[in-house]
Amino acid sequence: MDSFDPAKIAVRSGHFIGGEYVDEGARRIDVARPSDGVVYASVPLADAEMIDRAVDNAWTAFRTSGWARMAPRERARILRRLADLVAADVETLAPLEALGSTRPVRDAAAWDVPYTAEGIRFYAEFADKLGGEVMATDHDHLGMTIAEPYGVIAAIAPWNFPLVMASWKIAPALAAGNAVVLKPSEMTPFSVLRLAELAIAAGVPKGIFNVVQGDGRTTGDALVRHPKIGKVTFTGSTRTGAAIMAACAETGTKPVTLELGGKSPQLVFADASRLDDVARRIAGAIAGNAGQVCNAGSRLLVERSVADDLAARIQRVFAELKPGATWAPGTTLPPIISEPQAARIEAIVERTVAAGASLRYGGARADGGTRGAFYTPTILTNVTPRSEAVREEVFGPVLTLQTFDSEEEALELAQHPDYGLAAGVHTADLGRALRLVRGIEAGTVWVNHYGRTSDFMIPTGGYKRSGIGKDLGRQAYEANLRFKSVLIDMRP
Ligand code: NAD
Repeated sequence: MDSFDPAKIAVRSGHFIGGEYVDEGARRIDVARPSDGVVYASVPLADAEMIDRAVDNAWTAFRTSGWARMAPRERARILRRLADLVAADVETLAPLEALGSTRPVRDAAAWDVPYTAEGIRFYAEFADKLGGEVMATDHDHLGMTIAEPYGVIAAIAPWNFPLVMASWKIAPALAAGNAVVLKPSEMTPFSVLRLAELAIAAGVPKGIFNVVQGDGRTTGDALVRHPKIGKVTFTGSTRTGAAIMAACAETGTKPVTLELGGKSPQLVFADASRLDDVARRIAGAIAGNAGQVCNAGSRLLVERSVADDLAARIQRVFAELKPGATWAPGTTLPPIISEPQAARIEAIVERTVAAGASLRYGGARADGGTRGAFYTPTILTNVTPRSEAVREEVFGPVLTLQTFDSEEEALELAQHPDYGLAAGVHTADLGRALRLVRGIEAGTVWVNHYGRTSDFMIPTGGYKRSGIGKDLGRQAYEANLRFKSVLIDMRP
């Protein structure tokens, strides 16, 4: 699937509570298409009362629907069916995802939708694999832990990969037997509603998977503060993550998983093999989804002798990118999510240049053929660790380039004072690669590679202010369970 007519896509609006659409609420939020800025729908904004209704519904379903108590293999079967339904629904889901987000429909169909299905299938397989442990106590006692769901999990998702980010939250939560109340970003509210419909069709009991619409200040805040929420799992900015953690401390204490921002370095040494491949990897890691990726490789650190050559090769890849609407054929540089976000990217680049950086490539709006906001992939040189574009998460296709002369210097530059989400190391020297894997303070380090694969067993999560806890992997499944300790005296 390479293109579609946006006028032909119908969206269904509302909250999804207890298996039904609920399109009520005094306040509404307009939803615009990033590709051309056209407001195409609106969603109701859930206030504290609506959140109460959604969480109560989820709580009742958790207690009475049998979801938590059914044989885990049965839960697994239902979730596998959901995965199949998602994969089979690509013709509906991919355009729906592309319409309201920055995901080109070709990518949504080839990656986002099948990857979402595969992730659900991955967690389905966990449902009957982990029930707790028997402990090595003395012979007269039996000690064990029993894995139990929390009850109702609040999941809050960002706009950059609406389906995928939501599925990372809901799949392990549901597999572990919880009910979920999901709040998508107010900018991308629709594709997860389709996911919730498919969950009902797969056999997930009504009320186990709910969606509430709204903003952060009213809806998100009321959701994380609700007393019946057992745990909060969040993906979004570091600033919001801190606010959510504070709210959870005040109203819980509730455990939180936070997947937050990043400013990830890519280290390239002169011995890295196939410099053209490295250039493609680096270009893809900053221009993919127009840089609106948490682990965008936004800080390029290059050994001085190859810096100019590598930058020239990256520029050639950038020059091939085609800005355009998510529904236009051949789009490889999608829009920025909104005009204010594009203006923010522009302002950071301008201020960084005014402070002494050089613009090596890009640094301007691009023409995507619509009234959407597009920004050219950009390379800034003559920057220092204090430059704004090096320090701040830009969340756009802006690459800063710094050079180094030694491994020690490369490591020093790689460490960011705040963020530690991911890093890439490109070298043919295995010992050096492993030293840097050890040395770099980041939750993920890729070697001669950059970016996520479909290896769902590999968890993702940040060090420092990039987050707490993990999505994906066994860790994310276990994070949706609490472990009850039991000790039994067996003496007659
Ligand atoms: P955001 O923090 O502005 O919003 C994320 C979600 O939180 C939205 O649904 C929003 O409505 C909600 N929210 C806002 N304020 C809230 C509050 N006070 N209480 C509860 N909910 C609230 O982030 P965004 O702009 O949607 O997403 C971009 C950010 O997400 C970037 O910083 C990016 O790095 C990060 N991100 C991280 C990962 C990861 O895996 N680490 C993945 C994707 C995105």
